[in-house]
Amino acid sequence: MPKYIFVTGGVVSSVGKGITVASIGTILKSHQIAVSVQKLDPYLNVDPGTMSPYQHGEVFVTQDGAETDLDLGNYERFIDISLTAESNVTSGQIYSAVIDKERRGDFLGGTIQVVPHVTGEIKERFRRLAAKSQAEVLIIEVGGTVGDIEGQPFLEAIRQMRNDVGRDNVLYIHVTFLPYLTSTQELKTKPTQHSVNELRRIGIQPDIIVCRSDYPISEAIRDKISLFCDVERQAVIPLPTVDTIYEVPLVLEEEGLGRLVIDKLGRKTGKTDLSHWQELVRQIKSPLEPVNIALVGKYVELQDAYFSVREALYHAALQHNRCINLLWVRSEDLEGDGSDTLLQSAQGIIVPGGFGVRGIEGMIKAADYARKNGIPYLGLCLGMQVMVIEFACHVLGLNEPNSTEFCASTAYPVIDLLPEQKAIENKGGTMRLGDYPCQLVNGSRAASAYKENLVNERHRHRYEFNNQFRTRLEEAGMVYSGLSPDGKLVEICELADHPWMVGCQFHPEFKSRPGRPHPLFLGFIGVAKETLWEGAQPSLPLSP
Ligand code: GLN
Repeated sequence: MPKYIFVTGGVVSSVGKGITVASIGTILKSHQIAVSVQKLDPYLNVDPGTMSPYQHGEVFVTQDGAETDLDLGNYERFIDISLTAESNVTSGQIYSAVIDKERRGDFLGGTIQVVPHVTGEIKERFRRLAAKSQAEVLIIEVGGTVGDIEGQPFLEAIRQMRNDVGRDNVLYIHVTFLPYLTSTQELKTKPTQHSVNELRRIGIQPDIIVCRSDYPISEAIRDKISLFCDVERQAVIPLPTVDTIYEVPLVLEEEGLGRLVIDKLGRKTGKTDLSHWQELVRQIKSPLEPVNIALVGKYVELQDAYFSVREALYHAALQHNRCINLLWVRSEDLEGDGSDTLLQSAQGIIVPGGFGVRGIEGMIKAADYARKNGIPYLGLCLGMQVMVIEFACHVLGLNEPNSTEFCASTAYPVIDLLPEQKAIENKGGTMRLGDYPCQLVNGSRAASAYKENLVNERHRHRYEFNNQFRTRLEEAGMVYSGLSPDGKLVEICELADHPWMVGCQFHPEFKSRPGRPHPLFLGFIGVAKETLWEGAQPSLPLSP
Protein backbone atom coordinates (compact mmCIF):
# COMPACT_ATOMS: atom_id res chain seq x y z
CA MET A 1 0.00 0.00 0.00
CA PRO A 2 1.36 3.45 -0.88
CA LYS A 3 2.05 6.14 1.68
CA TYR A 4 0.37 9.52 1.32
CA ILE A 5 1.80 12.99 1.90
CA PHE A 6 -0.88 15.69 1.94
CA VAL A 7 0.30 19.25 1.48
CA THR A 8 -1.94 22.18 2.44
CA GLY A 9 -1.34 25.91 2.24
CA GLY A 10 -1.92 28.57 4.86
CA VAL A 11 -2.03 32.35 5.23
CA VAL A 12 -1.77 33.42 1.57
CA SER A 13 -1.65 31.80 -1.85
CA SER A 14 1.20 32.09 -4.38
CA VAL A 15 3.97 31.43 -1.87
CA GLY A 16 5.36 28.51 -3.84
CA LYS A 17 3.43 25.54 -2.49
CA GLY A 18 3.66 23.86 -5.91
CA ILE A 19 7.44 24.30 -6.03
CA THR A 20 7.66 22.96 -2.45
CA VAL A 21 5.65 19.88 -3.44
CA ALA A 22 7.77 19.39 -6.56
CA SER A 23 10.91 19.73 -4.42
CA ILE A 24 9.70 17.14 -1.89
CA GLY A 25 9.26 14.85 -4.90
CA THR A 26 12.80 15.59 -6.07
CA ILE A 27 14.19 14.80 -2.62
CA LEU A 28 12.25 11.55 -2.23
CA LYS A 29 13.29 10.46 -5.71
CA SER A 30 16.90 11.17 -4.79
CA HIS A 31 16.36 8.76 -1.87
CA GLN A 32 15.36 6.10 -4.44
CA ILE A 33 11.66 6.30 -3.57
CA ALA A 34 9.15 6.06 -6.44
CA VAL A 35 6.77 9.01 -6.20
CA SER A 36 3.78 10.35 -8.02
CA VAL A 37 1.98 13.64 -7.51
CA GLN A 38 -1.57 14.90 -7.65
CA LYS A 39 -2.95 18.43 -7.54
CA LEU A 40 -6.43 19.02 -6.14
CA ASP A 41 -7.98 22.20 -7.51
CA PRO A 42 -11.06 23.34 -5.63
CA TYR A 43 -12.60 25.43 -8.45
CA LEU A 44 -15.74 24.22 -10.23
CA ASN A 45 -14.33 24.16 -13.76
CA VAL A 46 -13.81 20.59 -14.91
CA ASP A 47 -10.31 21.59 -16.01
CA PRO A 48 -8.44 24.86 -16.55
CA GLY A 49 -8.65 24.49 -20.36
CA THR A 50 -11.57 26.89 -20.60
CA MET A 51 -10.05 29.56 -18.33
CA SER A 52 -8.24 32.66 -19.47
CA PRO A 53 -4.49 32.58 -18.86
CA TYR A 54 -5.05 35.80 -16.89
CA GLN A 55 -7.15 33.80 -14.42
CA HIS A 56 -5.05 30.75 -14.21
CA GLY A 57 -1.63 31.12 -15.85
CA GLU A 58 -0.43 28.47 -18.25
CA VAL A 59 -2.52 25.41 -19.05
CA PHE A 60 -0.13 22.46 -18.87
CA VAL A 61 -0.87 19.49 -21.16
CA THR A 62 0.00 15.94 -20.11
CA GLN A 63 1.09 13.25 -22.57
CA ASP A 64 -2.37 11.66 -22.47
CA GLY A 65 -3.98 14.97 -23.39
CA ALA A 66 -5.31 16.36 -20.10
CA GLU A 67 -5.40 20.14 -19.76
CA THR A 68 -4.10 20.76 -16.27
CA ASP A 69 -2.76 23.15 -13.69
CA LEU A 70 0.68 24.62 -14.33
CA ASP A 71 1.96 23.01 -11.12
CA LEU A 72 1.99 19.71 -13.01
CA GLY A 73 4.67 21.22 -15.22
CA ASN A 74 6.78 21.91 -12.16
CA TYR A 75 6.21 18.38 -10.86
CA GLU A 76 7.30 16.94 -14.23
CA ARG A 77 10.36 19.18 -14.48
CA PHE A 78 11.52 18.71 -10.90
CA ILE A 79 10.87 14.99 -10.52
CA ASP A 80 11.53 14.16 -14.18
CA ILE A 81 8.39 12.07 -14.56
CA SER A 82 5.53 12.12 -17.05
CA LEU A 83 2.17 12.50 -15.37
CA THR A 84 -1.29 11.65 -16.64
CA ALA A 85 -4.84 12.97 -16.35
CA GLU A 86 -5.17 11.30 -12.91
CA SER A 87 -2.75 13.87 -11.49
CA ASN A 88 -5.13 16.81 -11.60
CA VAL A 89 -8.48 16.63 -9.85
CA THR A 90 -10.93 19.54 -9.68
CA SER A 91 -14.19 20.07 -7.80
CA GLY A 92 -15.83 20.24 -11.23
CA GLN A 93 -14.73 16.66 -12.01
CA ILE A 94 -15.75 15.41 -8.58
CA TYR A 95 -19.23 16.94 -8.59
CA SER A 96 -19.99 15.91 -12.17
CA ALA A 97 -18.92 12.31 -11.40
CA VAL A 98 -21.13 12.23 -8.29
CA ILE A 99 -24.12 13.68 -10.16
CA ASP A 100 -23.63 11.24 -13.08
CA LYS A 101 -23.69 8.36 -10.60
CA GLU A 102 -26.81 9.73 -8.96
CA ARG A 103 -28.59 10.01 -12.34
CA ARG A 104 -27.54 6.48 -13.23
CA GLY A 105 -29.14 5.28 -10.02
CA ASP A 106 -25.96 4.14 -8.28
CA PHE A 107 -27.17 5.59 -4.99
CA LEU A 108 -30.86 4.67 -5.33
CA GLY A 109 -32.73 5.39 -2.13
CA GLY A 110 -29.95 7.54 -0.69
CA THR A 111 -29.52 11.23 -0.03
CA ILE A 112 -26.39 12.48 -1.76
CA GLN A 113 -24.16 14.47 0.60
CA VAL A 114 -20.74 16.07 0.72
CA VAL A 115 -19.80 13.49 3.38
CA PRO A 116 -19.63 10.64 2.41
CA HIS A 117 -20.37 10.90 -1.34
CA VAL A 118 -18.25 13.84 -2.44
CA THR A 119 -15.41 12.95 -0.08
CA GLY A 120 -15.68 9.33 -1.21
CA GLU A 121 -15.29 10.38 -4.84
CA ILE A 122 -12.22 12.46 -3.91
CA LYS A 123 -10.63 9.51 -2.11
CA GLU A 124 -11.41 7.31 -5.12
CA ARG A 125 -9.17 9.66 -7.16
CA PHE A 126 -6.30 9.09 -4.70
CA ARG A 127 -6.69 5.34 -5.16
CA ARG A 128 -6.87 5.64 -8.94
CA LEU A 129 -3.56 7.47 -9.06
CA ALA A 130 -2.06 4.94 -6.65
CA ALA A 131 -3.15 2.07 -8.90
CA LYS A 132 -2.07 3.73 -12.13
CA SER A 133 1.31 5.06 -10.97
CA GLN A 134 2.29 2.15 -8.70
CA ALA A 135 4.24 4.78 -6.73
CA GLU A 136 5.46 4.07 -3.20
CA VAL A 137 4.62 7.58 -2.06
CA LEU A 138 1.88 9.83 -3.40
CA ILE A 139 2.29 13.54 -2.75
CA ILE A 140 -1.08 15.26 -2.91
CA GLU A 141 -1.28 19.05 -2.99
CA VAL A 142 -4.52 20.72 -1.94
CA GLY A 143 -4.83 23.90 -4.02
CA GLY A 144 -5.85 27.20 -2.45
CA THR A 145 -5.51 28.16 1.19
CA VAL A 146 -6.95 26.53 4.31
CA GLY A 147 -10.23 28.28 5.07
CA ASP A 148 -11.44 28.63 1.45
CA ILE A 149 -15.08 27.55 1.07
CA GLU A 150 -14.41 25.38 -1.99
CA GLY A 151 -11.52 23.57 -0.33
CA GLN A 152 -13.55 22.10 2.57
CA PRO A 153 -14.50 18.75 0.98
CA PHE A 154 -10.88 18.13 -0.04
CA LEU A 155 -9.62 18.82 3.48
CA GLU A 156 -12.30 16.56 4.93
CA ALA A 157 -11.28 13.81 2.48
CA ILE A 158 -7.60 14.01 3.40
CA ARG A 159 -8.57 13.97 7.09
CA GLN A 160 -10.54 10.75 6.56
CA MET A 161 -7.54 9.14 4.87
CA ARG A 162 -5.73 8.96 8.20
CA ASN A 163 -8.29 6.45 9.44
CA ASP A 164 -8.79 4.77 6.09
CA VAL A 165 -5.15 3.82 5.51
CA GLY A 166 -3.73 4.14 9.03
CA ARG A 167 -1.87 6.97 10.70
CA ASP A 168 1.55 5.54 9.83
CA ASN A 169 0.74 5.83 6.18
CA VAL A 170 -0.19 9.51 6.01
CA LEU A 171 1.73 12.69 6.62
CA TYR A 172 0.40 16.22 6.69
CA ILE A 173 2.64 19.09 5.64
CA HIS A 174 1.42 22.67 5.95
CA VAL A 175 3.14 25.41 3.93
CA THR A 176 2.66 28.86 5.43
CA PHE A 177 3.99 32.36 5.04
CA LEU A 178 5.61 34.54 7.68
CA PRO A 179 4.95 38.23 6.93
CA TYR A 180 7.58 40.82 7.83
CA LEU A 181 6.62 44.01 9.67
CA THR A 182 8.88 46.87 8.69
CA SER A 183 7.89 49.06 11.67
CA THR A 184 9.03 46.50 14.24
CA GLN A 185 11.47 44.74 11.90
CA GLU A 186 10.24 41.26 12.73
CA LEU A 187 8.63 38.24 11.19
CA LYS A 188 5.16 37.45 12.51
CA THR A 189 3.98 33.93 13.31
CA LYS A 190 0.37 34.74 14.27
CA PRO A 191 -1.14 34.09 10.79
CA THR A 192 0.59 30.68 10.81
CA GLN A 193 -0.84 29.92 14.26
CA HIS A 194 -4.30 30.85 13.01
CA SER A 195 -4.09 28.72 9.91
CA VAL A 196 -2.86 25.73 11.93
CA ASN A 197 -5.80 26.32 14.31
CA GLU A 198 -8.12 26.27 11.31
CA LEU A 199 -6.64 22.95 10.21
CA ARG A 200 -6.99 21.50 13.72
CA ARG A 201 -10.61 22.65 13.86
CA ILE A 202 -11.34 20.24 11.02
CA GLY A 203 -9.28 17.48 12.58
CA ILE A 204 -5.89 17.76 10.91
CA GLN A 205 -2.76 18.29 12.98
CA PRO A 206 0.18 19.03 10.67
CA ASP A 207 3.27 16.88 11.15
CA ILE A 208 5.58 19.33 9.41
CA ILE A 209 5.30 23.08 8.83
CA VAL A 210 7.27 24.65 5.99
CA CYS A 211 7.64 28.40 6.60
CA ARG A 212 8.04 30.57 3.55
CA SER A 213 9.47 33.99 4.13
CA ASP A 214 11.24 36.77 2.31
CA TYR A 215 13.58 37.16 5.28
CA PRO A 216 15.85 34.82 7.27
CA ILE A 217 13.97 32.86 9.94
CA SER A 218 15.61 32.91 13.37
CA GLU A 219 15.82 29.99 15.80
CA ALA A 220 13.50 31.88 18.15
CA ILE A 221 10.81 32.01 15.47
CA ARG A 222 11.17 28.27 14.87
CA ASP A 223 10.83 27.63 18.62
CA LYS A 224 7.74 29.75 18.77
CA ILE A 225 6.03 28.00 15.85
CA SER A 226 6.97 24.63 17.32
CA LEU A 227 5.43 25.55 20.67
CA PHE A 228 2.27 27.25 19.47
CA CYS A 229 1.51 24.86 16.62
CA ASP A 230 2.49 21.71 18.52
CA VAL A 231 4.97 20.52 15.91
CA GLU A 232 8.41 19.08 16.72
CA ARG A 233 11.17 21.66 16.59
CA GLN A 234 12.98 19.86 13.75
CA ALA A 235 9.69 19.67 11.82
CA VAL A 236 9.49 23.47 11.49
CA ILE A 237 11.33 23.91 8.22
CA PRO A 238 12.34 27.42 7.15
CA LEU A 239 12.17 28.18 3.44
CA PRO A 240 13.35 31.72 2.74
CA THR A 241 13.00 33.11 -0.78
CA VAL A 242 15.88 31.92 -2.96
CA ASP A 243 17.41 33.17 -6.22
CA THR A 244 16.16 30.29 -8.38
CA ILE A 245 13.32 27.83 -7.89
CA TYR A 246 15.78 25.01 -8.61
CA GLU A 247 17.48 25.77 -5.29
CA VAL A 248 14.41 24.82 -3.23
CA PRO A 249 15.12 21.04 -3.11
CA LEU A 250 18.64 21.80 -1.87
CA VAL A 251 17.42 24.17 0.86
CA LEU A 252 14.78 21.70 2.05
CA GLU A 253 17.22 18.79 2.04
CA GLU A 254 19.77 20.89 3.93
CA GLU A 255 17.10 21.48 6.58
CA GLY A 256 16.61 17.73 6.87
CA LEU A 257 13.17 17.52 5.27
CA GLY A 258 13.93 14.33 3.33
CA ARG A 259 15.11 12.38 6.38
CA LEU A 260 12.21 13.67 8.45
CA VAL A 261 9.58 12.64 5.89
CA ILE A 262 11.16 9.24 5.35
CA ASP A 263 11.43 8.61 9.11
CA LYS A 264 7.85 9.65 9.72
CA LEU A 265 6.62 7.37 6.96
CA GLY A 266 8.58 4.52 8.50
CA ARG A 267 10.88 3.99 5.55
CA LYS A 268 14.61 3.40 5.62
CA THR A 269 16.78 6.24 4.42
CA GLY A 270 19.00 5.12 1.59
CA LYS A 271 21.88 7.00 0.04
CA THR A 272 20.80 10.26 -1.47
CA ASP A 273 22.32 12.05 -4.42
CA LEU A 274 21.38 15.60 -5.34
CA SER A 275 24.73 16.37 -6.97
CA HIS A 276 23.17 17.12 -10.37
CA TRP A 277 20.89 19.68 -8.68
CA GLN A 278 23.86 21.23 -6.93
CA GLU A 279 25.64 21.46 -10.25
CA LEU A 280 22.55 22.96 -11.90
CA VAL A 281 22.20 25.65 -9.24
CA ARG A 282 25.93 26.39 -9.29
CA GLN A 283 25.69 26.94 -13.03
CA ILE A 284 22.57 29.13 -12.80
CA LYS A 285 24.27 31.33 -10.19
CA SER A 286 27.57 31.67 -12.04
CA PRO A 287 28.08 34.77 -14.20
CA LEU A 288 26.89 33.89 -17.68
CA GLU A 289 26.72 35.95 -20.83
CA PRO A 290 23.07 36.72 -21.66
CA VAL A 291 21.21 35.96 -24.87
CA ASN A 292 18.45 38.51 -25.56
CA ILE A 293 15.21 36.73 -26.40
CA ALA A 294 12.00 38.63 -27.13
CA LEU A 295 8.86 36.75 -26.13
CA VAL A 296 5.99 38.23 -28.11
CA GLY A 297 2.62 37.26 -26.67
CA LYS A 298 -0.74 38.62 -25.69
CA TYR A 299 -0.67 37.67 -22.01
CA VAL A 300 2.81 38.96 -21.09
CA GLU A 301 1.51 41.02 -18.14
CA LEU A 302 1.09 37.68 -16.39
CA GLN A 303 4.35 35.86 -16.91
CA ASP A 304 2.95 32.65 -15.39
CA ALA A 305 0.94 32.32 -18.62
CA TYR A 306 4.22 31.27 -20.27
CA PHE A 307 5.72 29.30 -17.38
CA SER A 308 6.97 26.29 -19.36
CA VAL A 309 8.20 28.43 -22.27
CA ARG A 310 10.30 30.51 -19.90
CA GLU A 311 11.72 27.45 -18.17
CA ALA A 312 12.48 25.74 -21.51
CA LEU A 313 14.41 28.86 -22.61
CA TYR A 314 16.41 28.82 -19.36
CA HIS A 315 17.20 25.10 -19.71
CA ALA A 316 18.43 25.52 -23.29
CA ALA A 317 20.51 28.60 -22.50
CA LEU A 318 22.25 26.85 -19.61
CA GLN A 319 23.30 24.01 -21.88
CA HIS A 320 25.00 26.65 -24.06
CA ASN A 321 26.56 28.18 -20.93
CA ARG A 322 24.44 31.28 -21.31
CA CYS A 323 21.62 32.91 -19.41
CA ILE A 324 18.48 34.41 -20.90
CA ASN A 325 17.69 38.08 -20.91
CA LEU A 326 13.98 37.76 -21.56
CA LEU A 327 12.31 40.79 -23.17
CA TRP A 328 8.57 40.56 -22.60
CA VAL A 329 6.82 42.20 -25.56
CA ARG A 330 3.05 42.73 -25.57
CA SER A 331 2.10 41.80 -29.12
CA GLU A 332 -0.40 44.68 -29.35
CA ASP A 333 2.46 47.10 -28.67
CA LEU A 334 4.02 46.01 -31.97
CA GLU A 335 0.98 47.14 -33.94
CA GLY A 336 1.86 50.86 -34.09
CA ASP A 337 4.35 52.46 -36.49
CA GLY A 338 7.99 52.43 -35.44
CA SER A 339 7.34 49.74 -32.86
CA ASP A 340 10.13 47.61 -34.35
CA THR A 341 12.44 49.28 -31.82
CA LEU A 342 10.91 46.94 -29.24
CA LEU A 343 12.60 44.07 -31.07
CA GLN A 344 15.84 45.85 -31.88
CA SER A 345 17.99 44.20 -29.22
CA ALA A 346 16.50 40.72 -29.74
CA GLN A 347 18.92 37.96 -30.78
CA GLY A 348 15.97 35.61 -31.05
CA ILE A 349 12.18 35.98 -31.17
CA ILE A 350 9.73 33.49 -29.74
CA VAL A 351 5.99 33.61 -30.39
CA PRO A 352 4.24 31.17 -28.04
CA GLY A 353 0.74 29.68 -28.10
CA GLY A 354 -2.48 31.62 -27.74
CA PHE A 355 -6.12 31.90 -28.70
CA GLY A 356 -8.28 34.64 -30.23
CA VAL A 357 -7.58 37.53 -32.56
CA ARG A 358 -6.29 40.12 -30.09
CA GLY A 359 -2.61 40.86 -30.69
CA ILE A 360 -2.32 38.74 -33.87
CA GLU A 361 -1.23 41.69 -36.04
CA GLY A 362 1.66 42.37 -33.65
CA MET A 363 2.74 38.73 -33.76
CA ILE A 364 2.68 38.82 -37.57
CA LYS A 365 4.90 41.91 -37.40
CA ALA A 366 7.30 40.04 -35.13
CA ALA A 367 7.48 37.16 -37.65
CA ASP A 368 7.99 39.68 -40.47
CA TYR A 369 10.81 41.38 -38.54
CA ALA A 370 12.50 38.05 -37.78
CA ARG A 371 12.28 36.91 -41.40
CA LYS A 372 13.54 40.13 -42.95
CA ASN A 373 16.36 40.68 -40.46
CA GLY A 374 17.52 37.06 -40.25
CA ILE A 375 16.72 36.92 -36.52
CA PRO A 376 16.20 33.35 -35.21
CA TYR A 377 12.51 32.65 -34.64
CA LEU A 378 10.74 29.88 -32.80
CA GLY A 379 6.96 29.70 -33.24
CA LEU A 380 5.04 27.50 -30.83
CA CYS A 381 1.61 26.41 -32.08
CA LEU A 382 0.00 29.82 -32.67
CA GLY A 383 3.55 31.08 -33.33
CA MET A 384 3.84 28.63 -36.22
CA GLN A 385 0.43 29.62 -37.60
CA VAL A 386 1.43 33.30 -37.47
CA MET A 387 4.69 32.48 -39.30
CA VAL A 388 2.70 30.79 -42.09
CA ILE A 389 0.25 33.73 -42.39
CA GLU A 390 3.12 36.24 -42.57
CA PHE A 391 4.97 34.21 -45.22
CA ALA A 392 1.83 33.73 -47.32
CA CYS A 393 1.16 37.46 -47.18
CA HIS A 394 4.59 39.00 -47.73
CA VAL A 395 6.51 36.35 -49.69
CA LEU A 396 3.74 34.67 -51.67
CA GLY A 397 1.89 37.98 -51.97
CA LEU A 398 -1.57 36.61 -51.16
CA ASN A 399 -4.14 39.25 -50.35
CA GLU A 400 -4.85 39.13 -46.61
CA PRO A 401 -4.31 35.43 -45.93
CA ASN A 402 -5.40 34.42 -42.46
CA SER A 403 -6.44 31.67 -40.09
CA THR A 404 -10.18 31.05 -40.09
CA GLU A 405 -9.92 31.40 -36.30
CA PHE A 406 -9.39 35.13 -36.84
CA CYS A 407 -11.25 35.76 -40.10
CA ALA A 408 -13.77 33.13 -41.17
CA SER A 409 -14.32 34.79 -44.57
CA THR A 410 -10.68 35.13 -45.67
CA ALA A 411 -10.09 34.26 -49.34
CA TYR A 412 -6.81 32.55 -48.34
CA PRO A 413 -7.37 30.38 -45.25
CA VAL A 414 -3.75 29.18 -44.90
CA ILE A 415 -4.63 27.97 -41.40
CA ASP A 416 -7.97 26.25 -41.08
CA LEU A 417 -10.02 24.17 -38.68
CA LEU A 418 -8.89 20.54 -38.38
CA PRO A 419 -11.48 18.33 -40.17
CA GLU A 420 -12.26 16.42 -36.96
CA GLN A 421 -12.99 19.75 -35.25
CA LYS A 422 -15.69 20.87 -37.68
CA ALA A 423 -18.67 19.21 -35.98
CA ILE A 424 -17.53 19.89 -32.42
CA GLU A 425 -19.65 22.31 -30.44
CA ASN A 426 -18.46 21.97 -26.84
CA LYS A 427 -15.39 23.98 -26.00
CA GLY A 428 -14.05 22.05 -22.99
CA GLY A 429 -11.49 19.28 -23.59
CA THR A 430 -12.25 19.00 -27.30
CA MET A 431 -9.07 20.25 -28.97
CA ARG A 432 -6.41 18.00 -30.52
CA LEU A 433 -4.71 17.26 -27.23
CA GLY A 434 -1.66 15.40 -25.99
CA ASP A 435 1.02 13.31 -27.64
CA TYR A 436 1.01 12.74 -31.40
CA PRO A 437 3.90 11.42 -33.50
CA CYS A 438 5.88 13.62 -35.86
CA GLN A 439 8.17 12.30 -38.58
CA LEU A 440 11.18 14.51 -39.24
CA VAL A 441 12.42 15.25 -42.72
CA ASN A 442 16.09 14.54 -43.33
CA GLY A 443 18.35 17.50 -43.93
CA SER A 444 16.05 20.02 -42.24
CA ARG A 445 17.04 22.26 -39.34
CA ALA A 446 14.45 20.57 -37.19
CA ALA A 447 15.86 17.10 -37.95
CA SER A 448 19.39 18.22 -37.17
CA ALA A 449 18.16 19.73 -33.87
CA TYR A 450 16.37 16.52 -32.86
CA LYS A 451 18.91 14.02 -34.25
CA GLU A 452 15.99 11.58 -34.43
CA ASN A 453 13.53 10.48 -37.09
CA LEU A 454 10.32 10.08 -35.15
CA VAL A 455 9.30 12.08 -32.09
CA ASN A 456 6.19 12.45 -29.95
CA GLU A 457 5.10 15.93 -28.99
CA ARG A 458 2.23 17.42 -26.99
CA HIS A 459 -0.53 19.26 -28.80
CA ARG A 460 -3.31 21.67 -27.89
CA HIS A 461 -4.97 23.21 -30.92
CA ARG A 462 -8.07 23.29 -33.13
CA TYR A 463 -6.55 24.79 -36.26
CA GLU A 464 -3.81 23.52 -38.55
CA PHE A 465 -1.82 24.20 -41.70
CA ASN A 466 -4.18 24.08 -44.71
CA ASN A 467 -2.81 21.56 -47.23
CA GLN A 468 -4.39 23.42 -50.17
CA PHE A 469 -1.50 25.87 -49.86
CA ARG A 470 1.29 23.33 -49.37
CA THR A 471 2.75 23.40 -52.86
CA ARG A 472 2.55 27.16 -53.36
CA LEU A 473 4.20 27.94 -50.05
CA GLU A 474 6.84 25.28 -50.66
CA GLU A 475 7.69 26.78 -54.04
CA ALA A 476 8.14 30.14 -52.31
CA GLY A 477 10.68 28.69 -49.84
CA MET A 478 8.81 27.06 -46.99
CA VAL A 479 10.14 23.66 -45.91
CA TYR A 480 7.92 21.11 -44.17
CA SER A 481 10.39 19.56 -41.81
CA GLY A 482 8.01 17.57 -39.62
CA LEU A 483 4.86 15.73 -40.72
CA SER A 484 2.39 13.35 -39.14
CA PRO A 485 3.47 9.79 -40.10
CA ASP A 486 0.65 9.59 -42.70
CA GLY A 487 2.00 12.81 -44.23
CA LYS A 488 -1.33 14.59 -43.85
CA LEU A 489 -0.55 17.17 -41.14
CA VAL A 490 2.24 19.71 -41.18
CA GLU A 491 3.76 19.51 -37.70
CA ILE A 492 6.90 21.62 -38.25
CA CYS A 493 7.75 24.14 -40.93
CA GLU A 494 10.82 26.27 -41.50
CA LEU A 495 12.20 28.73 -44.01
CA ALA A 496 14.90 27.62 -46.44
CA ASP A 497 16.31 31.10 -46.87
CA HIS A 498 16.80 32.09 -43.25
CA PRO A 499 19.37 31.26 -40.53
CA TRP A 500 16.77 29.60 -38.26
CA MET A 501 13.05 30.27 -38.57
CA VAL A 502 11.12 27.27 -37.30
CA GLY A 503 7.49 26.87 -36.26
CA CYS A 504 5.90 23.80 -34.71
CA GLN A 505 2.23 22.95 -34.34
CA PHE A 506 2.86 21.43 -30.90
CA HIS A 507 4.23 22.62 -27.56
CA PRO A 508 7.83 21.45 -27.13
CA GLU A 509 8.14 23.54 -23.95
CA PHE A 510 6.20 20.91 -21.97
CA LYS A 511 8.91 18.31 -22.49
CA SER A 512 11.95 20.38 -21.56
CA ARG A 513 13.75 19.45 -18.35
CA PRO A 514 16.54 21.14 -16.40
CA GLY A 515 19.70 19.45 -17.63
CA ARG A 516 17.81 17.96 -20.62
CA PRO A 517 16.58 20.87 -22.73
CA HIS A 518 14.22 20.36 -25.63
CA PRO A 519 16.11 20.01 -28.96
CA LEU A 520 14.15 22.79 -30.70
CA PHE A 521 14.86 25.24 -27.87
CA LEU A 522 18.49 24.11 -27.84
CA GLY A 523 18.78 24.66 -31.60
CA PHE A 524 17.05 28.05 -31.38
CA ILE A 525 19.31 29.37 -28.60
CA GLY A 526 22.39 27.89 -30.31
CA VAL A 527 21.78 30.13 -33.34
CA ALA A 528 20.44 33.10 -31.32
CA LYS A 529 23.56 33.30 -29.17
CA GLU A 530 25.66 33.88 -32.29
CA THR A 531 23.27 36.52 -33.66
CA LEU A 532 24.40 40.13 -33.46
CA TRP A 533 21.61 42.53 -32.71
CA GLU A 534 21.50 45.97 -34.23
CA GLY A 535 24.18 48.14 -32.61
CA ALA A 536 25.84 45.27 -30.71
CA GLN A 537 29.58 44.70 -30.78
CA PRO A 538 30.94 41.21 -31.31
CA SER A 539 32.29 40.02 -27.95
CA LEU A 540 36.07 40.08 -27.62
CA PRO A 541 37.95 36.86 -26.95
CA LEU A 542 38.65 36.58 -23.21
CA SER A 543 42.16 35.15 -23.56
CA PRO A 544 44.94 36.56 -25.77
N1 GLN B 1 -5.50 29.11 -31.44
C1 GLN B 1 -4.73 28.19 -32.20
C2 GLN B 1 -5.47 26.88 -32.44
O1 GLN B 1 -6.42 26.57 -31.81
C3 GLN B 1 -3.39 27.93 -31.55
C4 GLN B 1 -3.49 27.20 -30.25
C5 GLN B 1 -2.23 27.26 -29.43
O2 GLN B 1 -1.38 28.10 -29.65
N2 GLN B 1 -2.13 26.39 -28.46
O3 GLN B 1 -5.10 26.13 -33.29
